[in-house]
Amino acid sequence: MSIPYNNIDVCIDVSNIVHNYKQLDHVGGNAIPVIKSDAYGHGLIETARALDNVGAATFAVGTVGEAALLREAGFSGRIIALLGPQSRSDFNLLCERNILPFISRLEQLELLHETISARSASMPAAPAPVALKFDTGMARLGFTPEELPSLLSWLEEHDSIHVVMASSHLATADDPEQKNFVKEQARIFGGVASALRFSNVGGALLETNIANSAALLAYPDLRLDSQRPGIALYGANPFHGTAWEEKGRGLLPAMNVTAPVLQVRTLKKGQSISYGRTFHAPRDMRVAIVGVGYADCYTRGLSTREGASGSGGWMQLHGKRAPIMGRVCMQMTAVDVTDIPETRAGDRVLILGGSGANAITPEELAGWWGTIPYEVFCLLGLNKRRYLD
Ligand SMILES: *Cc1c(COP(=O)(O)O)cnc(C)c1O
Repeated sequence: MSIPYNNIDVCIDVSNIVHNYKQLDHVGGNAIPVIKSDAYGHGLIETARALDNVGAATFAVGTVGEAALLREAGFSGRIIALLGPQSRSDFNLLCERNILPFISRLEQLELLHETISARSASMPAAPAPVALKFDTGMARLGFTPEELPSLLSWLEEHDSIHVVMASSHLATADDPEQKNFVKEQARIFGGVASALRFSNVGGALLETNIANSAALLAYPDLRLDSQRPGIALYGANPFHGTAWEEKGRGLLPAMNVTAPVLQVRTLKKGQSISYGRTFHAPRDMRVAIVGVGYADCYTRGLSTREGASGSGGWMQLHGKRAPIMGRVCMQMTAVDVTDIPETRAGDRVLILGGSGANAITPEELAGWWGTIPYEVFCLLGLNKRRYLD
């Protein structure tokens, strides 16, 4: 048994991820779980194992290294590496471990062809499957539609490589106000996909996908052959705070984070608390010092806003909400428990999760934090995790 290095308990309920997957797969028809970045902090292998058990046949990770780890853990299904190969060792891993890469520039095809040729010098190799990534408006990775003719002629000349998938990624699917940009990206992708289907390269069997969680839920026309949901698998509503909130209902968050009360103390009216004395007690108060801080990826940005009356964030204990007081420290944060008199040292405080009206939802914590649930999950998930069975 390993000794926990900090006081934070991150508990993952994978059955909620399974519930969300089933819902998304039912709506989309063919959902490929996106489990990059350690399954958004929920655990790469544990998440994949649970979804594999309920029939997920393909997984999408970020790096080729993540894909190799998944293979190492015994997954025999299709594994997509969304970031594509970046180094000599990545290209070798693709071939050795049968990983399907997203390819977004010609040089990657050339290096893949070289790798295959070098390997097949000793034994004949089957053509390597690839997914072509197209940039339709995100302007990060991918071939542009203008590059398509030269891409097609390169592929026609190299039968060491076999195109099995074409993909693109949407920039605004979670924002009802930016529907037009989604339509524009979809139109561009539609043109690319049909050009590939009518070429000798892709063929009619080419699999296409463009939908992330938000598009899977909100754009039936964009469900295509498969979909790539990430955030909704982990129970956050991509439409939180928008007119489409209803479309993301029924998803169950899977991450619960707690920390212990280290000490309960009194703060006399006028006394200050924590570094910088940014908070002075307006009356006599009870304070709980909770064992979580920015070293545990609980951001210092949740400190009381100076000059503002509102707290930077809340925790939950004994089913009630307690506001943060003063600055979040490295391994400690103070909360106001004046109205929760039953608080004792050793109590567990909820930082994220719980049920009922006072649950700390990922969307709410992200709002206080000034970010999105994606980042909250990825960061809090860096702490030691445990799994509910
Ligand atoms: C992360 C990612 C997704 C998943 O997006 P969500 O908004 O989390 O559903 C899908 N496709 C690609 C290429 C990604 O990088």
